Amino acid sequence: MIGPTAIPGRVLRAMNHISISHRSKEYSAVHERVTTNLKKVFNTKNEVLVLTSSGTGAMEAVILNCFSAGDEIVVPVIGKFSEQYAQMAEIYGLKVKRVMFEYGRTADVEIVMKEVTSSTKGVFVVHNESSTGIYNDIEAFGKALKDTNALLVVDSVSGLGGLEIRMDEWNIDAALTSSQKALMSPAGLAFVALSEKAWSKVECSSFPKYYFDFKIARKFNEVHQTLTTPAVYTLFAVDEALKMIFEEGLENIYIRNKNNTKRLLEGIKETGLNLLAKDEKFASPTLTAVHVPGKSKYFISELAKRDVIVGGGMPPLTEDVFRVGTMGYVSKNDVTVFLHELKDVVKNLNLSLN
Ligand SMILES: *Cc1c(COP(=O)(O)O)cnc(C)c1O
Repeated sequence: MIGPTAIPGRVLRAMNHISISHRSKEYSAVHERVTTNLKKVFNTKNEVLVLTSSGTGAMEAVILNCFSAGDEIVVPVIGKFSEQYAQMAEIYGLKVKRVMFEYGRTADVEIVMKEVTSSTKGVFVVHNESSTGIYNDIEAFGKALKDTNALLVVDSVSGLGGLEIRMDEWNIDAALTSSQKALMSPAGLAFVALSEKAWSKVECSSFPKYYFDFKIARKFNEVHQTLTTPAVYTLFAVDEALKMIFEEGLENIYIRNKNNTKRLLEGIKETGLNLLAKDEKFASPTLTAVHVPGKSKYFISELAKRDVIVGGGMPPLTEDVFRVGTMGYVSKNDVTVFLHELKDVVKNLNLSLN
């Protein structure tokens, strides 16, 4: 169990492929299949653009295409990734109103909405905050923002494919993800979908851009291609991963992740350790943060000795948290093995403290 995610053998083997031109029919067929399948995961009628970048690049692209310098936005900050978006928007000259929440809590929609006015151009919400293992109620944000001028921008990098997202029903205006988290593929590609409301804002954005220009991307997307050479091998991987996802069924994956997380949370608490999540209702089904103040390095190295790989904490919780992924190809048995080894680590730690 690791973060980013383990790549299934089938996905690895799909990359064992002869080189193809990104201007060939063969490429376009894969591109079309991937974007068509991704629409089903985003739950949208909007087209899905393919960018060769990581998820952060896709967020930067949304800022560049849907906003202009001086625009006012609201960012609920519940962890490192939401804070990073606030900083990124400031670098581009947007006026950012941060709404801070204690790390381990979900963003309270009512509190956030108090900052939204008629001049608010966007609200940037992280679907699944990977630094704290907490998800936000995107549906509630969509309801609250529906009749406002603001665009609802959602980072679902560690959500999409593992945690339900319904772009159209939830009134999401810009949704983005990347290939290497719940999509079980190598890094290299990001995927973005925009609502009509967001496309109308693209017309007014005054930022210069070329590589990340959504209007250019849209033209190429019509013929199932991209402006420049894309990460073709990552696309082969995502194509196969999506086949696996639909074979298992999205609903079944969401349930598997939820059940794995439930057992994980119970098992962690049984060892006497604490979760970072302050309200388990919003504990992420794709990633769990365990709160071990000052001891994260100890847990990571002790688990690694037992062949269990977990992620470290992220600033400012670097030393205080380790993170366990349940996204992607994680089975009930993986959770059992993890809990068994964790119990052993905790037992040894308690012995050494006594
Ligand atoms: C991993 C992650 C990112 C950053 O994605 P990159 O592809 O590394 O740029 C952004 N947001 C969230 C929630 C993430 O988990």
